[in-house]
Amino acid sequence: MDIAGQDINSSAYMRIGIDDTDSPAGMCTTYLGALLAGRLSDSGMTVRETYLIRLNPNVIHKTRGNAAICIDVIGDICTAFSMACDIVEELADFSCDETNPGVVVSDRALPAEFYKKAVTDFCEISEAVALLEESEALFRGYKNGRGLIGAAAAVASVLEDRTSEILVYRRPDCRGSPRMVDRKSLFLADGETSPHTWDTVDRENNIVVCVPHTPDPVLFGIRGTSGEWVLRARRMVVAEAPEREQIFTTNQGTDAHLIAGSPGALEHGRSYLVRGTVSTAPMTRSGGHVSFYLSEGGFSVRCMAYEPTKGFRDIIRMLIAGDEVVVAGSYKGGSINLEKIGVISIVPKREQKAPFCSSCRKRMTSAGKGKGYKCRICGAREQDPERVYLARELKPGWYEVAPSARRHLAKPLCRGHPDLQRYGIEDQEG
Ligand code: ATP
Repeated sequence: MDIAGQDINSSAYMRIGIDDTDSPAGMCTTYLGALLAGRLSDSGMTVRETYLIRLNPNVIHKTRGNAAICIDVIGDICTAFSMACDIVEELADFSCDETNPGVVVSDRALPAEFYKKAVTDFCEISEAVALLEESEALFRGYKNGRGLIGAAAAVASVLEDRTSEILVYRRPDCRGSPRMVDRKSLFLADGETSPHTWDTVDRENNIVVCVPHTPDPVLFGIRGTSGEWVLRARRMVVAEAPEREQIFTTNQGTDAHLIAGSPGALEHGRSYLVRGTVSTAPMTRSGGHVSFYLSEGGFSVRCMAYEPTKGFRDIIRMLIAGDEVVVAGSYKGGSINLEKIGVISIVPKREQKAPFCSSCRKRMTSAGKGKGYKCRICGAREQDPERVYLARELKPGWYEVAPSARRHLAKPLCRGHPDLQRYGIEDQEG
């Protein structure tokens, strides 16, 4: 996999991509990226930007959030490549079968289509290698080299929309012990900077969202619209002394994973925006998961709002057959796992009741199946029921899952809802 011997000109500007260095037992590719950015700067190179690039959230080989990193640097390309490989060899968790690191350094742009495919679809290792060879990039794949997919995609990334995240990393001597982050300060930081920051806390459910529980070096991370906003929030957080912190430019919170889809043509493991009509009443299943069917063009698909989406399920339960909606989420195991929903239009909710007797002013009772209604007092008969229109609590608009259930790539509604016309989806009532 190593083609470091190729004739590649050293040049001033380059991108370094790294992926697949961690395991469920520890490490984190973003930490390795933050450390490398520091070492590159210390060696005299200019680090222009550090990127945290999320890829298809449905790939089975991911450890946690399918993240890769990319660093924009000005410096010597061969030195940068060897520093990147050194840090991977020093810190990646090679003991884990599923850890297959990849390092890519390129002084020319890689095709952005590869990034688009990696964030919305599935790629093969051979595809990444062919692209890297064709682009004459420096690259090294360790073990089976799967990390080259994410590393190449990160280098190829062109972000049409971007957000920021500041990641704060624990000192090595603290790792493994409970994280000391003051809960009150997180709620204060959120209160002062939201909606320019999000997913620090989940107010509705009174949960801290930005402090992980996994055995990795991250102490906490704050997401927001820009480096300035995440830094402003971070400065308000009271926590244990960190080892280092790094602001990343990211594709998180941008819906980069969504493509337009229709119920009859969904592929497993891809994430969609789908417009259709609610065709069955929502049902709450065991475990508190709520499901309904969405139909369009003679095809139907099940939509799921799982228990961790919390209050979002109350919105889903308010849907009735006939409502026009657009759903966003990944198609897995025959269902769309909902991330958000746009209610385009609602139908009137009708209920049938026994009619009133015109003489006695009392409600009649059923006279038997198909036999209409009968007044128990005077014996008068009526064939048709009274149709009552009930008020709908649900209003057209967009609704999203709780912050604690939000996927890294899902755009929070505080950043705006999907521009349906961009996806070729009609955004008006049909
Ligand atoms: P980390 O914290 O290290 O980033 P992670 O949750 O991001 O952990 P990885 O350990 O990086 O997960 O594993 C994801 C693997 O899937 C990597 O090898 C990456 O190259 C690969 N991968 C990423 N996107 C795709 C894709 N679209 N198709 C196929 N493989 C992919």
